Amino acid sequence: TDLAGLLSSRIRDVPDYPKPGVLFKDIAPLLADAEAFAALTRALAERATALGATKVVGLEARGFVLAAPAAFAAGLGFVPVRKKGKLPGEVHAQSYDLEYGSATLEVQCDAFTPGERVLVVDDVLATGGTIGASLDLVRRAGAELAGVVVLMELGFLDGRERLAAHLDGAPLETL
Ligand code: 5GP
Repeated sequence: TDLAGLLSSRIRDVPDYPKPGVLFKDIAPLLADAEAFAALTRALAERATALGATKVVGLEARGFVLAAPAAFAAGLGFVPVRKKGKLPGEVHAQSYDLEYGSATLEVQCDAFTPGERVLVVDDVLATGGTIGASLDLVRRAGAELAGVVVLMELGFLDGRERLAAHLDGAPLETL
């Protein structure tokens, strides 16, 4: 069956959200569809296994919804990368530039044991700022990068090019 076709058919284009001129890709219909959500979860779990991951990392907030069931399906643990101030205890923090201003992501310092291989999952690769900062965090927390898998990639924003330096040879895959 055509996974990309099934997934694409369940993603809704919302014009002028969150602001005028932006065409937002809404994944709510995909998550609400049992068949499509299961197919997505199985595909992510299969990539985690194939890439030799020992943990699946999800990026707040939609990345959590994709990564956690994929981790379960692959028999792996889940680690959240969260927005600043949400995680207790010692954290690594990484800031990155937004169109206006900046944002900061965090991961707990004890999230990984040395040598762990991490699959990073998010819904959308746009400019690459979110994933780039997350890859730096994962490495600073002592893990190796097994790869990155996103549901979709907004190719016209050149996120893939911007991420190349952060990937250090690890694969970036789009479902
Ligand atoms: P980036 O940092 O690559 O510019 O933006 C990616 C982040 O913004 C992701 O965490 C993603 O959830 C969110 N994002 C940006 N554009 C869209 C969109 O059109 N649809 C959805 N669902 N998320 C988006």
